[in-house]
Amino acid sequence: MSDLQTMRVMVLEKPGEPLRLKQIPVPRPAMGQVLIRIHACGVCRTDLHIVDSELANPKLPLIIGHEVVGEVVEVGVGVADFQPGDRIGIPWLGYTCGQCRYCLGGRENLCENARFTGYTIDGGYAEYTVADARYCFRVPDRYASPEAAPLLCAGFVGYRTYRLAGENIRNLGIYGFGAAAHIITQIAVYQGKQLFAFTRPGDWKGQEFARSLGVVWAGDSTVAPPEKLDAALIFAPVGALIPEALHHLDKGGVVVSGGIYMSDIPTFPYSWLWEERSIRSVANLTRQDGRELFKIAPRVPVRTYIHTYPLEQANQALDDLRAGRFEGAAVLVVSDE
Ligand SMILES: [Zn+2]
Ligand SMILES: [Zn+2]
Repeated sequence: MSDLQTMRVMVLEKPGEPLRLKQIPVPRPAMGQVLIRIHACGVCRTDLHIVDSELANPKLPLIIGHEVVGEVVEVGVGVADFQPGDRIGIPWLGYTCGQCRYCLGGRENLCENARFTGYTIDGGYAEYTVADARYCFRVPDRYASPEAAPLLCAGFVGYRTYRLAGENIRNLGIYGFGAAAHIITQIAVYQGKQLFAFTRPGDWKGQEFARSLGVVWAGDSTVAPPEKLDAALIFAPVGALIPEALHHLDKGGVVVSGGIYMSDIPTFPYSWLWEERSIRSVANLTRQDGRELFKIAPRVPVRTYIHTYPLEQANQALDDLRAGRFEGAAVLVVSDE
């Protein structure tokens, strides 16, 4: 293990290549930053999109990972909210300007000058990292660090996606039953919604997993659900799912796409959109989304189903996610709590 001089990291030097294990100096916290010793970091589909060159202009070389949970070991000048010993989480949203019209209008997720953990600033596939304290969250005590990690993106962004489906929905479809879906399903069931889960065709294990979480129906994404949907959330990066889901919506329904990247969307007849159906996307998160998710998750209580790997096996974790080899969420376990 490292002392406080150097740390092990899994670094992306060039998109399209595997991450490389390296030993580099531990960063020092600048003004307003905290230095954390990482316990665990979730593996998100967005990490795959960055590694696979599907997202433009990442910082390079880059330490990916934006579902980071760890312990504060040092605070920079001006940090009042956290102290050494606090257990905190670092999400995707790493910085906003506070001054653009989106920030001023309560939509900091759309900030013109935002920076993102594990994309435009270094993230959590490492033993230590620094983060702007204003974007960090205290982690609910109920969760061990590896269990909490998926809440930091699959949970936060998944929750925003769910919220944008609207309040008065009853039948909710979810396409792509991975990390975000398994968290949001538990919240939606708790809130009395009827859930319909759609998986890759033939993924019986995924459908069984969805049923175990309380969905009323689970089936292939190519199949019509037994009832019309008031809303559908899409968590798979497959553009063809948009018209597919749209076609199963009731009047006035909405399809919300929760991912940062998707393959092209095929054309479809206007009649599928007619009668005030809509399609929208979700970008990033606001800190308010995070606060709300951390309030509701322990109350449900949401349980995260995790598949763990040591830091050095990050490439294996990414491959397994790409191939859909596990249910729930992959998490790198970096150090003990
Ligand atoms: Zn801004
Ligand atoms: Zn993510």
